[in-house]
Amino acid sequence: MSDMNCPYCEAECEVCHDDGHGYSEDTRHEHECHSCGKMFVFETVITFDYHPIPADCLNTGDHEWEPSFTYPIEYTKGVCKHCHKERKATDEDMAAAVAYRAKLKHRASSPKGEAE
Ligand SMILES: [Zn+2]
Ligand SMILES: [Zn+2]
Repeated sequence: MSDMNCPYCEAECEVCHDDGHGYSEDTRHEHECHSCGKMFVFETVITFDYHPIPADCLNTGDHEWEPSFTYPIEYTKGVCKHCHKERKATDEDMAAAVAYRAKLKHRASSPKGEAE
């Protein structure tokens, strides 16, 4: 795996990170191409991978709470399925948790499933 390509000859160049060289951002680091011998500079851009998921509940919508399926059931919390915010389980969450469990049981016992 190479870090970058020489801007002159396209040769693959490795950045030597000894002493943390090449890690600081917004600095131009000098590098000599091992292939054509030309000097060039590079900037370090640290990238992260983000996985965006729309969260309408943080805009105009409501949180969509669902029970956390914690065991034992008494510790159930409400968790928004979009933003993963937690809230103390309401009666509604508890009811949903109980209903979900009942459904699982039901599904296990009936081959057709999908009781809704
Ligand atoms: Zn080169
Ligand atoms: Zn939410």
